[in-house]
Amino acid sequence: MTEPSDPKIDFLQWQEDTPYSLRSQDIYYSRQNGLAESRHVFLDHNQLAARWAALKDEPGVQFTIGETGFGTGLNFLAAWHLWNQFGFKCAYLNYVSAEKNPLTPDVLARAHRAFSEIGALSEQLCQILPPPYPGFHRRVFANERVCLTLLHDDAASAFSTLSTKVDAWFLDGFAPSRNPELWSVPLFRAVADCSAPNATFATFTSASQVRQLLQDVGFNVAKHKGYAHKREMCSGTLTLAGQNTENPSANKTGLPVSAAPWFIKRAPDCDTPIRNVTVIGAGLAGSAAASALALRGLNVTVLEAEQDIASATSGNPIGLSFVRLSTHTSAQNRYYLQAYLYALGALTGVFARAGIAEGDGWRLNGILRVFDDADEKRELEAFMATPQASYLVQALSAEQLSERAGFPIALPGAWQPGSGWMNPATVCRALLAHPNIRVHKATAAHCLAATDVGGWTLTTSQGLISADAVVIANGHSASEFQQTAHLDLRRVRGQVTKLAATPASSKLQHAINYRGYLTPAWQGTHTIGATYHPKRADTEVCSADHEENIAHLNSALPGFLAQNESQAACGGRVAFRCGSPDYLPYVGPAPIVARYIADYQDGLGKGQLKRLYPIGTCYPNLYISAAHGSRGITSSLFAAEIIAYWMLGGPPPVDTETLHALHPARFLIRNLRRRSTTPAE
Ligand SMILES: Cc1cc2nc3c(=O)[nH]c(=O)nc-3n(C[C@H](O)[C@H](O)[C@H](O)COP(=O)(O)OP(=O)(O)OC[C@H]3O[C@@H](n4cnc5c(N)ncnc54)[C@H](O)[C@@H]3O)c2cc1C
Repeated sequence: MTEPSDPKIDFLQWQEDTPYSLRSQDIYYSRQNGLAESRHVFLDHNQLAARWAALKDEPGVQFTIGETGFGTGLNFLAAWHLWNQFGFKCAYLNYVSAEKNPLTPDVLARAHRAFSEIGALSEQLCQILPPPYPGFHRRVFANERVCLTLLHDDAASAFSTLSTKVDAWFLDGFAPSRNPELWSVPLFRAVADCSAPNATFATFTSASQVRQLLQDVGFNVAKHKGYAHKREMCSGTLTLAGQNTENPSANKTGLPVSAAPWFIKRAPDCDTPIRNVTVIGAGLAGSAAASALALRGLNVTVLEAEQDIASATSGNPIGLSFVRLSTHTSAQNRYYLQAYLYALGALTGVFARAGIAEGDGWRLNGILRVFDDADEKRELEAFMATPQASYLVQALSAEQLSERAGFPIALPGAWQPGSGWMNPATVCRALLAHPNIRVHKATAAHCLAATDVGGWTLTTSQGLISADAVVIANGHSASEFQQTAHLDLRRVRGQVTKLAATPASSKLQHAINYRGYLTPAWQGTHTIGATYHPKRADTEVCSADHEENIAHLNSALPGFLAQNESQAACGGRVAFRCGSPDYLPYVGPAPIVARYIADYQDGLGKGQLKRLYPIGTCYPNLYISAAHGSRGITSSLFAAEIIAYWMLGGPPPVDTETLHALHPARFLIRNLRRRSTTPAE
C-alpha cells in the first residue's frame, strides 16, 4: 500500500513503512532492515568499532564522519548509537552530512519507528531537526558527545567548499543509475580534499564508475558482500592525502593557497594538545564559549570581573531570540540567519541539560511580529515569497495576530515559530552548568603573556592563572588587552522598561516584536525594549527613555495598554550594546597586528592579489568572541561553535565566506587595502 507524505515533501511516498523517493524512483533504505543495512555497510566496513576502541579518550580528541545523503538520518543514528557504547568522557564525534532534499521530523520519526534500539536517539534528533532550509545547520545534543552538521545542499558543492578533515565516509544516496548527478567527478574530488590521512569510505554500491572515480582520487577500493540480497558493496582507504585549500597541514609551507590567505586557519605551531581553557567574561558570549568547549571535553575556567555572572550587557531582564529575515544575502544577514537557526535548535538542549524548565526564565513558543515599519514589512514580505520561507515565518492578518495575542491589534504581521523570549542570566546559568566548567567570580583578567609552549599566563586580580588557550569574551573590555587593542568596539546605550503585569495582561503567551518588543509577564512584570542611543553615555535609568519605549508600544499595540490599569513604568535597566563598525561580531583567532602590517603592507590591491601572500599570523591559542551588538542571544551560541572550530578543528558550522566576515583581522585587512593608517600594536 502506498500513501503520500507531508504536502511540502511531495517527492516522498510511503510504501508500508519504507520511504520511497518519487524523484529518484528508489527506496531510502533496505525494505528488509534499514538499520542492519547501515551497520553492515557503513559501520562495519569503516571498521568503526575497532577504530573507536583504539581512540584515546582525551580532551580535544575528535572523530569525523562525512556522509553524502542524510536521507532519514538512519546512518547517523546507527553511528551515534555505536559511539555511545564506548562511553567516552572527552572524545567527540562530528558527523557532517549533505542533503539536497531534506525531510521533516514527522517523516524521520515514522522512518525510525521500526527500530526501537535507536528510539531515544531518534526522539532527540527529531526534536531539533533543522527546518528544510538551504545552507549549513549545526546541531548539538544535550548530554551527548555528538555534533551534527547538516549541509542542505548538493553534496559536491557542499563538500567542495568545506574546510574539514573526515576520518570515515558514508557514501550513501540513491543508486548511481537513478541519481547520476550525485556520483560525479566534483563530488569525489571534494571527498578526497576533505579526507584526513588514511580516511576510509564505505558505500552500498559497487558500480564500476564509482569504483573508478574513487581510485582516481586516491582511494584503494575492495569489493565485499552487500547487505541481504545485494551481491556487492565496496569500501577502501585513502592512500594519497587530500589537498584541501584550507588544510592546516598543507599550510605548514606558509604558501598562499586561497584568495584570502589572511583569514586562513594556520597549522598549530606546536603540537601540545589543548586541555585547559580560560574564558574571560561570564556574559552570553563567554558562557556560550565555555559550554561549547566543555562539551568537547576541555576543562574550562571562566573569569568574571563582577560579583556575579551576566552582570554587564547580559544583565538585561529579558531579550528575544530573533532574526531580521531578508532576501538580501549580505554577510550580516547570512550570519544572523545561520546563528538564529542554530540558537533555535540549541537553546532547548541547553536548558534541558541544566534542568531549567520552560517558563522558568525562558519560553520558545514563537514570536508575533507586528508590521509597524513599512520597510521591514516590505522586506519580510519579499522573504516570505521565497521557497522554504514558510518553515521560518508565516504571514498573519490583524485578526489572526489579535487572536494569538489575546487583545486587538490593528496591523497585520507574521509568526516566527520556534523563537521566543529569555532572561539572559538564565541562559548564562544554563550554559555554565557543566561539570567541566569552573567560574571564578570577582576575578578580573588584567593582561596576557604567551608561554614558550603555545599557552598563556593571565595576570588577574586574584593572581596568576595558566591556560593552554584563552577566549576573550569580555564585551566592551575586549580591546583592553595589548594583543586586542586594535579591535574597534562601539557602544550603544539601551534602556528597557518594566510594566507591572495585570490579570488581563498576564494572558499574553507570546513575545511581540514591532519597532520595539513586548514580552509576556515573567516574575510579575512585562519587559518593553529597548531604546537605541549610540551617542549617549549616561548610565542611570531615565523617565524620558521609559516614555519613548511606551510611546512605541502604544503606537504599535494600543490594545495592550488599554487593558492595563497602569501605563507607567515600574522599573527598568540601562546597558550598553557592544558592536563593531559592520554590525558583525568579532569571532575567531586574535591576529598579531605587527605581522599583518609587515606581511600585507604593500596595499594588497583591489580584486586580483598583487603577489603571493603568506597566511595571516595570529597569536597561538588566543581567540575572541565579542561585539555581539543587539543580538547576543541569537549570536553568542553560534559564535561559540565557531570558536570551537578555530580552536579544535572539525567541520566548521558556517560557510567559509561567513567565517571570514567574522574574522577579528577583517578591519586590519580593509585598512591595509585602503592604505589608510593602521593602529600600531
Ligand atoms: C537594552 C538591550 C536590549 C537587548 N535586547 C536583546 C534582544 O532582545 N535579543 C538579543 O539577542 N540581544 C539583545 N541585546 C544584546 C545582548 O544583550 C548582548 O549582545 C549580549 O548580552 C552581549 O554579551 P557579551 O557576553 O558579549 O557581553 P557582556 O554581557 O557585557 O559580558 C562581558 C562580561 O565580561 C566581564 N568582564 C569585563 N572585563 C573583564 C575582565 N577583564 N575580566 C573578567 N571579566 C570581565 C563583564 O563583567 C561581563 O560580565 C540587548 C542589549 C541591550 C543593551
